[in-house]
Amino acid sequence: MTKPLRVGILNGDDIGHEIVPASVEIARAAAELHGVDIDWQPLPIGAKALETHGNTLPPVTMETLPTLDGWILGPIGHRNYPKGPNSINPHPILRKQFNLFANVRPTRSYPGIGCLFEDVDLVIVRENNEGFQPDRNMIAGSGEFRPTDEITLSVRVITRTGSRRVARAAFELARQRRKHLTYIHKDTVFKLGCGMFVEECKKLAAEYPDVRVDDVIVDTFAMRLVRDPQTFDVVVTTNMFGDILSDEAAGLVGGLGMAPGLCIGDGDVVMAQATHGSAPDIAGRGIANPYAMVESTRMMFDWLGHSRNNQAAVKMAQSMSDAVTVAVGDETARTGDIRGKGNTRTFTQAVIKALK
Ligand code: ATP
Repeated sequence: MTKPLRVGILNGDDIGHEIVPASVEIARAAAELHGVDIDWQPLPIGAKALETHGNTLPPVTMETLPTLDGWILGPIGHRNYPKGPNSINPHPILRKQFNLFANVRPTRSYPGIGCLFEDVDLVIVRENNEGFQPDRNMIAGSGEFRPTDEITLSVRVITRTGSRRVARAAFELARQRRKHLTYIHKDTVFKLGCGMFVEECKKLAAEYPDVRVDDVIVDTFAMRLVRDPQTFDVVVTTNMFGDILSDEAAGLVGGLGMAPGLCIGDGDVVMAQATHGSAPDIAGRGIANPYAMVESTRMMFDWLGHSRNNQAAVKMAQSMSDAVTVAVGDETARTGDIRGKGNTRTFTQAVIKALK
């Protein structure tokens, strides 16, 4: 008998309390339809956890996560946390602790929702644990410091291991898709930092002769992404470039509500996390677009299905994907940010209704 999948539910902040329950409701319905046994584990995190457990990342959450197959992490609004030692931003801790070094961010267009192009289907794989992000590129302290009031230094960390493993994740993904990988860098200027990333991508290319490989300088890529995004399949890049470019890519297909993501590593766990933030400006109004969170959840079950050889979970993920496509196509169900007349609830119900 297949073991139940142990999956955590971490709502996060603001719209997370709306879109994570929507995603779980859809996943529960799809799981029931396809006979996938899931042991759901709701866990405290974020501003609410500070109220109930005295910490934005309470020990009970950190102790339970290693026992799970994966979890859904809602958006985190850490910038609005009250100042204090227990108000930490959980993102970098989770990504580092569980070695979730690759952030897989797909961009896909759907008809009728205001996409700039009708035929975009690309994935940006962003390095997640080093680069320019000062909150996670040091073992202790921050990668930014100010020796005098006049000078600020920001350190960017690039390692061979970090570059190689994110590139490998991208090559593997390219192999499952249209077998085209583009690596993005600026080695014309960052000869050592980007140079190392490029060297590792080139070395790996020899192991994947079936994947067509090319590279584009980051500024040229930013331009080409808005002119001919159809020419890209899988794109891999360092942390900060990936952060910026994946938001740009979301802009091509209806905005941040359409930007899902999955954090993966070489371990056994996986974290579903949409690209967007906690959107406090629209929280509590029932109008947040759950697409990105639902799709992130769908990606997690697809990943778990393959890694655990759980065919029912793979089918469940496919059924979620098909149903989401139907709901996005329904103007009365989809949310206002993607030219719809519906809300979080109507979209969720439409996905559940379309599940097969
Ligand atoms: P972070 O830096 O934490 O990623 P951010 O500053 O990029 O956050 P977001 O919280 O992502 O900001 O919000 C940016 C804009 O996009 C806001 O106007 C917000 O309402 C909108 N937005 C984000 N997510 C969604 C969503 N799921 N549905 C509808 N609108 C959204």
